[in-house]
Amino acid sequence: MKKRTTRAKKKMRVLITAGPTREYIDPVRYLSNDSSGRMGFALAQAAHELGFDVDLIAGPVELETPDGVTRTNVVSAREMHKRATKLAPKADIIIMAAAVSDWRPARFSKNKIKKATGTSVDREIKLKLNPDILAELGKKKRNDQLLVGFALETRELEKNARKKLKSKRCDWIVANRTENIGSKSGRALLIPQKGKKIPLPQLMKHDLAFVILSHIIG
Ligand code: C5P
Repeated sequence: MKKRTTRAKKKMRVLITAGPTREYIDPVRYLSNDSSGRMGFALAQAAHELGFDVDLIAGPVELETPDGVTRTNVVSAREMHKRATKLAPKADIIIMAAAVSDWRPARFSKNKIKKATGTSVDREIKLKLNPDILAELGKKKRNDQLLVGFALETRELEKNARKKLKSKRCDWIVANRTENIGSKSGRALLIPQKGKKIPLPQLMKHDLAFVILSHIIG
């Protein structure tokens, strides 16, 4: 009789980035982006509820880890970059929902920078470009991986989002406006690399996360 072999089916893995990054100027001052992390956390929770294994890389946010999700906390874009580069090869789906700071101060001062008293001297901060995590993962993407980016735009939403979709070699881009920042609900325009754009209505972020995932998974 033929020997029966049983092999557990490997679960699909999703990697999600969420929240802002902080780029410290000195021990008490930093540059950042406005982001609550709610959209990324909602995606992590929804992905877990849909049966995926979920890795979540979170910037500094005041949110609880969704059940069953493996979370790594990071502060700066460079830390997020390092962690994402490590976890990406294991992921089947990569969703970069984080509001990564494009620049960091060229120099970090170990001590608090003092304001010279009695003077009114302006200061300038020299900035250095941070690595673009999404663009880098787009270059390394395997054919069996799905890469999803977010684009937050104040003008020409669709045009700018399409530019990002192409330049960062994403399979999908989720375009949204500043009204979504910090809010419990959101509205988005889903744009695939191939096919028609999908306008999504205003939904609670938890529901929006399910709708986004259901379109991406297909
Ligand atoms: O270029 P922009 O920052 O608007 O692109 C937004 C998308 O790129 C988001 O998915 C964001 O997570 C990702 N991004 C990144 N690394 C950066 C900047 C943005 O992964 N340094």
